Amino acid sequence: MKVFKTVRELKISLKKISSVKSSIGFVPTMGALHKGHLSLIEESKKNNDITIASIFINPTQFDKKGDLENYPRTLENDLILLKNIACDIVFTPSISELYNKSIVANSFDFDGLENNMEGSHRKGHFNGVGTIVKKLFEIVMPTNAYFGEKDFQQLQIIRKMVEKNHFPVTVVGCPTLREENGLAMSSRNKLLTKEEKQQASIIYEILNDVVKKTKSQSIEEIKEWVSNQFKNHPLFDLQYFIIAEEKTLKSVSIISQNKPQRAFIAVTIKNIRLIDNISIKH
Ligand code: AMP
Repeated sequence: MKVFKTVRELKISLKKISSVKSSIGFVPTMGALHKGHLSLIEESKKNNDITIASIFINPTQFDKKGDLENYPRTLENDLILLKNIACDIVFTPSISELYNKSIVANSFDFDGLENNMEGSHRKGHFNGVGTIVKKLFEIVMPTNAYFGEKDFQQLQIIRKMVEKNHFPVTVVGCPTLREENGLAMSSRNKLLTKEEKQQASIIYEILNDVVKKTKSQSIEEIKEWVSNQFKNHPLFDLQYFIIAEEKTLKSVSIISQNKPQRAFIAVTIKNIRLIDNISIKH
């Protein structure tokens, strides 16, 4: 496994590779790796000649300084995990390597996909995501790029960016990996105590109950039920719960089987945000 810190070193290596290998799979991450990240790398390894992972905590996608400062950093362990699954190349650039002196995001128009959920609760978040993923795609020029459905809104936004920029990249969405109690794996889970992690199983339990309820209840009733689950909850605050169309991410008021729909939730615990989503299929 090769580890590169500079764009120059990575590009030299990629140039050599591209003369003999045909497909490059790419998995961008912010590190603090867990099995969810590793599943994306495994998927890439199955379908590409070479797999590249990047580890970069992107400052422009954080709207709160504290969140950026507290984000878990476990680079040494990340590299061991990546080596163990035989990732071919890891790119671990510094901030100045990718942003020069100006650490600012560009503005993107994702046709409204960015307007609700994470977009409305984390100001500028998706401009930051778009900025960094575009930079990374331009450097790595992957054949296939792998993103988790856990961040479903992000996945759809990346697809939109690829479409609008005519990038020759196939974006592959991968299923959410979960802890045994159903909690979606996340780097932020490292900031929770054992007890809090245990209690956080409520998020996925609620999503599963929501799917069941869509058979007999209206979306208004379901929303109220979800909101009641968190009222006076000793640990968690509900930030949002919506049911939206998968393609447009527009909130819906009626369950429909014609266009795929998903339930999305975000809760906070001690200022740590946990998000999850589930497909609604009957
Ligand atoms: P992050 O390091 O949080 O930016 O995540 C890097 C990639 O891993 C993103 O495409 C995430 O959607 C994906 N990812 C994060 N958690 C999971 C999970 N539990 N299952 C599958 N993919 C995930």
